[in-house]
Formats: sequence, structure tokens, C-alpha cells
Amino acid sequence: MNGRNLHIAIAGAGPAGLAAALYLQRDGHRVTVFERFAEPRPVGSGLIVQPTGLTVLEDLGLLGEISTLGSRIDRLHGTDAKSGRTVLDVRYDARPGGRFGIAVHRAALFGTLYRAARRAGIEIITDVELEAVEPGEQPRLLDAAGRGLGSFDLVVDATGSRSKLRRSAGLEGEPKPLAYGAFWASLDWCGEGFDENALTQRYRRASVMIGVLPIGRAEPDGRKMAAFFWSLKPAESERVQAQGLAAWKAEVARLWPECQAYLDQIEDFDQLTLARYGHHTLAQPAARGFAVIGDAAHSTSPQLGQGANMALLDAAALAHALRQAGDMDAALAFYVRARRWHVRLFQALSLAFTPFYQSDLLLLPLLRDRLVATVARIPPAPQLLASIVAGTLIDPFGPAGLKETDWMNSGEERAVRIPA
Ligand SMILES: Cc1cc2nc3c(=O)[nH]c(=O)nc-3n(C[C@H](O)[C@H](O)[C@H](O)COP(=O)(O)OP(=O)(O)OC[C@H]3O[C@@H](n4cnc5c(N)ncnc54)[C@H](O)[C@@H]3O)c2cc1C
Repeated sequence: MNGRNLHIAIAGAGPAGLAAALYLQRDGHRVTVFERFAEPRPVGSGLIVQPTGLTVLEDLGLLGEISTLGSRIDRLHGTDAKSGRTVLDVRYDARPGGRFGIAVHRAALFGTLYRAARRAGIEIITDVELEAVEPGEQPRLLDAAGRGLGSFDLVVDATGSRSKLRRSAGLEGEPKPLAYGAFWASLDWCGEGFDENALTQRYRRASVMIGVLPIGRAEPDGRKMAAFFWSLKPAESERVQAQGLAAWKAEVARLWPECQAYLDQIEDFDQLTLARYGHHTLAQPAARGFAVIGDAAHSTSPQLGQGANMALLDAAALAHALRQAGDMDAALAFYVRARRWHVRLFQALSLAFTPFYQSDLLLLPLLRDRLVATVARIPPAPQLLASIVAGTLIDPFGPAGLKETDWMNSGEERAVRIPA
């Protein structure tokens, strides 16, 4: 649809919506973003931007900015709390090419995209609760009062996993709640006993997973931070809180004494956010004049850490599809095809891996600790695991019109300059 100047509504100013807005505005379309928050803001603690997401950010000219805020991640390392045995050890450099991740505070990813959207002059309308979409040649977007927000050539749903728009358009597939969620907190980084370039985890069977992720700074002049998480069933959070903070802290410290410096920063359960996870994958993330991207199209547990990265890839793929196809129907079919196999593969892997780390099962964690941990050291398993974590097990770039960042020979602004 090159040369056609479309009016595009983007619902939701999360990573998917903001990245899509940047791409589509850059391609010459008129973009309006609608967001329910009065002031757009990020939700949650930290996440790893993988080589997939970093390539999208580089394509948007934002890799330099995110690199100066985040913390370079070379390795994911987890041990059994009781035996100290290594259960998970994934290194990006198990595969050639110099890949790495960058762990960021959500505010850093959000701020980087949001500032870029502001610089690009993108119209962002806040304080709007979106309720429904009416797909069609000129799709309509409706707010909670049933008011139409204008007529568009395309409505993009980036409202996250609990999207109401998806449902109103009759697209099948609601998230199924997963048994485990987590308490998350953003705390000051305490280096002692922790690797600044690794996600470090402790497990007890599959029912307890504690993690520390260095996430750099939320703002350029902010303090260095860590995302701290403790997995638990949302249904048990009230019981845990009733037993008191001291009891919970004692349990964490018993399993992972080095965490004391983090526990000392937690004075109230209010500092911990309870995250609930669900899993869904839309079979068809599009209808007439309507595209669904990011968590609205596919949500899962953060076990593989791909969600925000897939959201960024979706945004790139949608813009690429609009550039390639001759009309809107063809563009949306192109977008759906471009993302289909990468999304399905990683959603299936996430569903398969999650019970090894977050479930009540006894046999799976036993297998994980005894068998999988050993097999994972024998080639080609380390290479395979590195590709899974990087999000590159099958090519995510070509179908989205991207070329992977050259990690080894990057220019001055690139993330390679982050000291390893
Ligand atoms: C605890 C936790 C840890 C995670 N860790 C990782 C990780 O390490 N790596 C990773 O890649 N991913 C991770 N994820 C997943 C990642 O956060 C999501 O995949 C990502 O945020 C999806 O982006 P999105 O833009 O699609 O949706 P969202 O980030 O959910 O953004 C949706 C936006 O739409 C707005 N909105 C919603 N409904 C409406 C409405 N009705 N009207 C108007 N506006 C609306 C919201 O306010 C929000 O701004 C994690 C998730 C959680 C919860």
C-alpha cells in the first residue's frame, strides 16, 4: 500500500502500540494512539529485551538509548536451592554471532518508545477507555460510552492480554489462567553475590522460583536497579500475606541467603506486585480493517521472556505488511502469515517449559534437575537453548522485513559498547 496515506488508530500505548505507531507514522500514515491512562505509564517491573526486540529497536533508531539504560545479559543461570546443583545455564554465546539481551526496567522501555513517539509528533489521546471495535472497510472504534472515536482505514488492537476489542470483533481465544503467578518488585541493585550480566534464579522443586534480574536504570540519572521475583499461586497470596512479611522473608532467606540485601529493602507487601499469568494465542489475529498485535494476540507466562519482544516483532511485521501489499485485506493476510509460525512455536515452547519451573508437579522438576540439566550441557542442546532464549529458533526477522543487528560490528551508538 506504498504511497497511500492511511488514517490508523492504535489502541493501547504499551510496547506493541508505541512501536507500531512509530513504524506507521514513519511510513507516512496518519496515526492516532488511544490509551486508558490519564498519563501513559508502564506497568510492572523488569524484562529482558532479546536480540529480536533489540533488532526492532535498532530499526527504530532506539538501540543506543535503551543500551545506555539497561543491563547487558549474557547468561541465564539457575540452581536448586537445596543441593546447589546447576539446573539451568543458558549462554547467548553458545551460538556464534555475539548475541546478548538487555534487561530493562519497564519504565526504560516505555520511556524510550514514548519519548520517540512524542519526538515524531504522534497524536496520543489519553484517558479513553476503549470498549469495542466494529471491523469493516472503515472500521469504527468505540469508547466505554459507546461513542465513535472516528473513522479509520485500520484499527490496531494493542490493548494487551485482556483486550475487550478482540472480543468485540468476535476473534476467538481468551487467556486461560495459569496456576502460578509471581510477586515482583523493583529494588536497588546490590551486586554482592550476583552477576550483573545474568538473570540468576533459585528453585525448590517447581513450586518455588526466586529470581534476581539486573535491570539498569529506569531514567538516565536514576539508580541501578534489580527486578526481584518470587513465584506463587495467586490464590495463595492472601495466605502468605496473613502469615506476615517476616515469615515470607525468612523463607526466601532460608532458600537463598544472598538475597538478604534485597529483602532488607522490602518493608511492606505493598512493595510487591502480584502478577497473574494467562495463556492464549489467537488463531487469526485480524479481521476486516482490524489487526491484533502484542499480548492482545498472544499472551503467556514470562518463563521464556519473549512477550515484549514478540510485541515489537508484531509491530514491525504489521508495518512491513502494509508496505508490501496492494490493499488492506492483502496486507492483513500478509501480517497474519508473517507472524504465524514464530508466534505459534514460541507460545507452544512457553506452554511446554512453564510446568518445569512453575507447577505443583514433582516428577517434572525431578527430571529437570537430574536429566534435563545434564542433557542441556551436551551439544546441540546449549545452542538450541540459546536460540530459544534469543527468540531466534526460527527466523523472526525476514518475515517482519527486518535484518538482524550485526552484534559484532556495530557502529558507535550500538549496544556492543556496553561493557560485558
Ligand atoms: C511479571 C511479568 C514479567 C514479564 N517478563 C517479560 C520478559 O522478561 N520479557 C518479555 O519479553 N516479556 C515479559 N513479560 C510480558 C510483557 O510484559 C508483555 O508481553 C508486553 O508488555 C506486551 O506488550 P503490549 O503492548 O502488547 O501490551 P501491554 O504492555 O499490556 O500494553 C497494553 C496497553 O493498552 C492499554 N489498554 C488496555 N486496555 C485498554 C482499554 N480498554 N482502553 C484503552 N487502553 C487500554 C494499557 O493501559 C496499556 O498501556 C512479562 C510480563 C509480566 C506480567
